[in-house]
Amino acid sequence: MSSHHRALVVGAGGLSSPVLRLLAKSRIGHVTIVDDDLVDESNLHRQTLYTDADIGRSKIERAKAAVLAIRPALSVDTVEGRFVPDTALSLLSEHTMVLEGADNLATKFLVADAAHIARVPAVQAGAVRWAGWAFCAVPGAACLRCLFEDIPSDRIETCAEAGVVGPVVGALGALQAAFAFRLLEGECPQGELWHYDALRGALRKTWVRRRSDCPLCNGEIQDLRVERYTAACAA
Ligand SMILES: [Zn+2]
Repeated sequence: MSSHHRALVVGAGGLSSPVLRLLAKSRIGHVTIVDDDLVDESNLHRQTLYTDADIGRSKIERAKAAVLAIRPALSVDTVEGRFVPDTALSLLSEHTMVLEGADNLATKFLVADAAHIARVPAVQAGAVRWAGWAFCAVPGAACLRCLFEDIPSDRIETCAEAGVVGPVVGALGALQAAFAFRLLEGECPQGELWHYDALRGALRKTWVRRRSDCPLCNGEIQDLRVERYTAACAA
């Protein structure tokens, strides 16, 4: 029995590879995959959804084929393009959760803001080199801006620039999938933040509390103005 849940998966790279594989094996009813990229040989080490035969082909097409190979009856939509402010809210309104595996901070904040406004749980993650984090924001609890405040005005490294270790991304994507499974079970993992440091061998859970001066939780951010997401956009 598949559930009524519909997952929006933003990005079809290293984080979303385990997310999509595991979602295909869950009882989720529908998955929509958003990405604008082609499968690139230099990313294959962390993008476990793809094989050498996929190089140069559309990621969303290959990702769809991969999840349908796992569960042919799964309902899958694809959106070719970046996740952008214009369509963010209408896309989110058709889904019951969003899993974000983008490689840039601008998209992470856009997903966080859109999910908060649309009141959809957001499962997000990020990794650089040997370490990373996974976080679940649910309506009414701490959001990504309670955790990180805002996009740094000076550009910081993205995972594409800094390099990232395949198994680290895989582990964080699996943690995202675990959040999704808990949401499917009706659980509410509010404010949960997992840190993973593969070099130290440490997996640690902390809780993010709502910040009293958080502009998103306070309702100061009510729309998705493009300027808000250009500061650290590493396109
Ligand atoms: Zn907040």
